[in-house]
Parts: sequence; C-alpha cells; structure tokens
Amino acid sequence: MAQTPVVAPPKRPEGQWAFGEREPLNANERFKLEDDGLNVRHRIETVYAREGFASIPGEDLRGRMRWWGLYTQRKPGIDGGRTATLEPHELDDEYFMLRVRCDGGALSVPQLRAIADVSTAFGRGTADITDRQNIQLHWVRIEDVPEIWRRLEAVGLTTQEACGDTPRVVLGSPVAGVAADEILDGTPAIDEITRRFVGDPAFSNLPRKFKTAVSGSPHHDVAHEINDVSFVGVVHPELGPGFDLWVGGALSTNPRLAVRLGAFVTLEQVPAVWAGVAGIFRDYGYRRLRNRARLKFLVADWGAEVFREVLEREYLGHALPDGPEPPPPPSGRRDHVGVHEQADGLRYVGAAPTVGRVSGPLLAQVADLAAAAGSDRVRLTVEQKLVVLDVAPERVDPLVAGLEAVGLRVRGASTFRRGTMACTGIEYCKLAIVETKARAADLVDELERRMPDFDQPISINVNGCPNSCARIQVADIGLKGVLAPDGSDAYQVHLGGGLGLTSGLGRTLRGLRVPASELPDYVERVTRRFDEQRLDGEHFAEW
Ligand code: SF4
Repeated sequence: MAQTPVVAPPKRPEGQWAFGEREPLNANERFKLEDDGLNVRHRIETVYAREGFASIPGEDLRGRMRWWGLYTQRKPGIDGGRTATLEPHELDDEYFMLRVRCDGGALSVPQLRAIADVSTAFGRGTADITDRQNIQLHWVRIEDVPEIWRRLEAVGLTTQEACGDTPRVVLGSPVAGVAADEILDGTPAIDEITRRFVGDPAFSNLPRKFKTAVSGSPHHDVAHEINDVSFVGVVHPELGPGFDLWVGGALSTNPRLAVRLGAFVTLEQVPAVWAGVAGIFRDYGYRRLRNRARLKFLVADWGAEVFREVLEREYLGHALPDGPEPPPPPSGRRDHVGVHEQADGLRYVGAAPTVGRVSGPLLAQVADLAAAAGSDRVRLTVEQKLVVLDVAPERVDPLVAGLEAVGLRVRGASTFRRGTMACTGIEYCKLAIVETKARAADLVDELERRMPDFDQPISINVNGCPNSCARIQVADIGLKGVLAPDGSDAYQVHLGGGLGLTSGLGRTLRGLRVPASELPDYVERVTRRFDEQRLDGEHFAEW
C-alpha cells in the first residue's frame, strides 16, 4: 500500500484496518481474528463429522462453517412470531443447508449429475436454484459432509466461501461465450478470480460478504446494480470491448444501487481490479458494526471519485482510462427462457423451474435430457432459471418436450412463471418470518389461471424477512414477509423497483399488509390495473 493514504480516518473509528483499528470490535470480528473461517474444514473432517452435531462449538457452528457453505437450518415447527424472540441455538436444527457455488452459473453435465446424486443421497432430494446462480441443498448431516465434498470436488465443484465474510460466487452471464450479441466473454476473468482468490487467506476475512458480477452481455443479465463489484460489458471507442466498473450495490435493509466509477477495464485487467476493490473493502471496510459493514456504506461515504482514486493510487499503482456508460439493455426481459440461437448456429434452451425449486431427481433428469440433446453445458441464471447450451437445431424439440414433461416450462412458460422468485423462507431459514417458496408457487399457479393471456414482463419477488435475499426492492412487485396483527403471515408491498431498463429501488407502500390468503387477489388487481392503464411499450416500473 502507498505511504500516504488518499483518505483520512473518520472522526468516529469504524474499525478500518487501514487505520490500525485492528482490535476485535464485535463477536464476528473476534472469531475471525482468532481463527480463519477456512480452517474449520479440518475440524469438520477430523472431529465433527466423526463425533456428530453435538461436538460442534457455537462459533464454528454458527460462524466459521459458513466459510464452507454450511448453515444450520431452521428447526421445523417454529413459527415466524418466535424468530426474533428465541436464542440462535433454539432455532438451530441438527441439519444443514449446503450451498454449492457455481461461478458464472456454469455446470457441466457431470457436475449437474454430481449435485443431483448428492442431493438424493444426502439431502432428502432437496435442491433450490438461488438468484445468485448457486444450488442449495437441505437436510445435510454433518457426518456426511466429507463424503459430499469428496463427490463434489471429484468433478471440480466446491462449497468453499459459498457463504461467510468472503468473496462469494462470481455471477456471470449464463450465455457467456455463446450469445450472438455478446460484447465480450467474461468467463476467463471469472475463472481467474476464482482460481487465484477464492480460498486465498488474503481475502478470507472481509468485513462482510463480497458479491461480484462479470458479464459482457448487452442484456445486463447478472443484476450488476446490486453487487459489491461489477464488470459490465461496454465498447470503448478507442480500446475496443472491455468492462465498465461499478461498486457498492447491495439491498437488504439499507438498499443502495451500485455506482459507476467511470473507469474502463480490459478483460485481462479484471482480476487485478477485482483484487483492488476487494482489498479496499478488506482494509477500509467498516468492521465496528455488522449492519454497516457492507461495501455500500464505504462507497456512500467516499463517493465514486475518491473510491476510484484510492483504487488507482493505493492498489493498482496506475490510472484506469475513462470509459463509456453501458447502453440500456434492449428489452425488459433478462431471463433467457425459451429457445435462442447462439453465435455458432446452435441453440440455447432456457427453462423455468417455479421459484427456483428443483430436486435431486429432477436435476438428474435435466442432466439426462441435456446429454441426450448432445450438450455438456448447463447454466443457472440470476432469475432462478436454468439454460441448456449447445443444442443442435434438430435436437431442440425433443429437449423442449422432455423439459416440459418434467415440469420445466420452456415455450409454455407464462410471464408469471418467468418473473416470480422467492427466497428460502421459513421452511429452512432461521431469519424468516413467513413462508415463501410454496406460497409464491401457489401464487404463480393462481395468476396463470386467472390471467392466462397476460404477457408483459413483470417481476414478483417474495421475501421471508427484510433481508431481501430475493431482491424485493428491485422487483416490479416486491412482497416482504411480515406478521399480521393476529400473528398470521402477511406481506408488505414494495412497488416499481427494477433492474436494467428500469433500474431503481421503487417505493414501499407503508401501512399496507396483505394477508397471505389475499395475496392472489392483490397481485391480480395491481397487475390488471397496470395492463389496463399502461401505454404501448411501458414497463411496470415506468407506469
Ligand atoms: Fe432468509 Fe430473510 Fe434471506 Fe429469505 S430474505 S432467505 S427469510 S434471510
């Protein structure tokens, strides 16, 4: 680091390592300093998996195990009203959620089969595609974790840093390298970032999670606006294709969209720039309070100009050229569902599981169908969907028929099935207040029945608590779980948020709590009003 920092410490110390504020500042910072989260793997393999759940001490159980993708899941039968009143250990079940990172959303057919096998053998067949292109399994026993790792790692998959205060999965365009209208393929940069930095102790104790997106698609298909660092494909008038650099996006209870730094980054420079931004977060990020520890708070305080100066002077040692702003995406849909032509004449086929819920057996069927169609590549999307790449035109129809036969809609996907997402919710999540997946799936079925001809792009995102894992503030209709006065499930409504063409945080309808039983009526009413009043080409967020 340079001798003279660009920025001075704030009057009130925020626990920034760059200013020597190293002492433990909260419980999480203490356990991270005492022992790196990555080190828990050895104890899992040598002690906990042999001696069982009861042998795991609290700081590993609810802390360091996240560094290897493991969260305890919610004990069944605890209602949402008790979420905030119980101690963490009272909410813990003896089973785990296991998150498998799929950087760039990329899976080979053997990798998909391996996840399917693990789900079936060790996860009661559960599997959810997340809106960060991961796959999450449930009901995992600690005794089985070493064997699960063995099977996943045998095909090149990992759960390392899938959770925790670490560089999480790197989002990438699901159609990187094949899309006909791609600006450039970000895959080499994603591969390099994960190869060099995931598992590197230099980045395994960040102030909080650190989310990355890299996409050279003009469709802005990785939700770059809500990542800590994003590289968005642009064409520089003199330097050619490369990336526009964005930092500081994140949702949760203090949502902020990422800001452009105005800097142009070549494909080759992406890993170094990524390390610079992650290094700023590690060194200057706020560690005093967990709820101010995301990069967005630092970016808000510094502003884009100071952030860029620190990056260039203290971390890169050279200036980056100014670059152009990415043009708006050409359409309101970014979900890849349907049949599309690739640059090489083959096709990619996007299918819509409902709210990301799949299963081990279903993933095995997808692997079989992809292989039968001559494909070895499946991709996950940030809309909880999946895509089969590299399908010869004559093999498309059998593949589509096969996917639709197992409930994955391709040509027959309604706008509601395409546009509805849900977080994990009370079924497994210890922070949840209400049910999400099943209720959102019912909502989709009901809206399809009631409005079969509605075909406008619309996003309906359902969250089980204020944490916004399913991105309610950037949905056309965001539904945040709350409790009704009688203790039953209800949803606070957030309208008019968006990404891409209509990027913005929308507004919360304070005071309105829609009871779960009235959700279909409410969403239908709003959607019908939009359909009646919209101007030609107008999107929900513009209405
Ligand atoms: Fe859990 Fe809340 Fe995230 Fe849903 S939004 S997965 S309930 S933390």
